[in-house]
Amino acid sequence: MTLDPPTILALTVALAAAAALYLAVEWRSVREPSLLCWSAGFATISIGSTLALLRSSGFLMIGIWFANGLLVIAHFLFLLGVARFTQARLSRWWLLMPVVWLGMLLLPADLPWSKAMLAVQSLLVAAPTLCASSLLRPHGKSLSIGAVQLRYVLLIHGSFYVAKALSVLIPGTLIDLAAFKGEIIQVSLVEGAMAIMLIALSMTGSERYRREQQIARLAARDPLTALYNRRALDLRAPRLLAQVSPARPGALLLIDIDNFKPVNDLYGHIAGDRLLIALSEMIRAVVPRGALVARLGGDEFVILLHPASTEQIVDLGSRLRGQFFQFTAQTFATPTAVTLSIGANLFDQPPASLTELIEQGDTALYETKRGGRDSIRLVDRTGASSFG
Ligand code: GH3
Ligand code: MG
Repeated sequence: MTLDPPTILALTVALAAAAALYLAVEWRSVREPSLLCWSAGFATISIGSTLALLRSSGFLMIGIWFANGLLVIAHFLFLLGVARFTQARLSRWWLLMPVVWLGMLLLPADLPWSKAMLAVQSLLVAAPTLCASSLLRPHGKSLSIGAVQLRYVLLIHGSFYVAKALSVLIPGTLIDLAAFKGEIIQVSLVEGAMAIMLIALSMTGSERYRREQQIARLAARDPLTALYNRRALDLRAPRLLAQVSPARPGALLLIDIDNFKPVNDLYGHIAGDRLLIALSEMIRAVVPRGALVARLGGDEFVILLHPASTEQIVDLGSRLRGQFFQFTAQTFATPTAVTLSIGANLFDQPPASLTELIEQGDTALYETKRGGRDSIRLVDRTGASSFG
């Protein structure tokens, strides 16, 4: 099979233009700056490859030096997009790249020109590509599947360019840039066309997967406190509740602020919001790892614990009530104290449903409110005794 370089190059122009358009359309709907950088990178490749076709018509300066320079710029734009995607800062040393490329014009004429051009250009393509791949290394948190693909495609593409640069050390002429001939040109053009497809696909994949995760996160969280909402609790509770057993009981605590309305009435809704946020932070700080915490709505919060014990619930409830009262007493002067009422259940069998469990918590909470507020009522369903 013979691969005709101008034909592969024409295909590359079309593929890169399609990738640029595809990423630009994606950017129009989601406005992620990384997509714009990547789209610009592919557009640059498309222009560079079109100009590269001119070398067969004798335009060597535009067809080789300028076109190859555009390929370097395109890979830098890919790096820029990855830096935006990973929120990394790029070093100023990257500004030296155009200087090195301009320096190629000063190359003495007696050097093997094709080889020198090939080595420098390949290293200038490999450097931003490998740097982009390394920026996509997981830093503490795991990477999305799209980002992992992009990382490896860039790693392979960058390594290919390192190998291409090293190929100049092989004696003989594997490449003739002016005549557009040589094994390396053919292999490189095929690799280029494949890389365009794979890089563009994994770029859109990375962004889409991240967006899906953001949407799922937003859908699961209460916008004010960022705690789980009722829907997220419904989804997560069954796993925790299924592990409940007589040896490892579970507990549900339903928390409601006492006299919250006067805070809103006297200090405004924003002050009320701040109090809800402060309470959510206090709850986060006192619950053990693995506990589920959600805001059910208004001034009502729920904690699901497993494993749990009477002592733990009483201790957690008193610490929370103490901290909350200390905060509100210092912040708000209201006719009636702003405190916490807690209704809790300790159980040693998985309940029929979360709704049933919350209803039981509601009953205990109602008892607390009826008994004068500012206390915790714990119903121990493991031994039928209660603590109030
Ligand atoms: P009680 O002692 O019986 O619990 O009465 P309360 O004054 O705390 O009021 P209640 O629990 O019956 O009602 C909760 C109030 O919380 C009603 C509403 O005005 C207010 N509220 C609900 N959601 C929000 C919110 O997102 N922000 C603010 N600032 N207030 C809210
Ligand atoms: Mg209330």
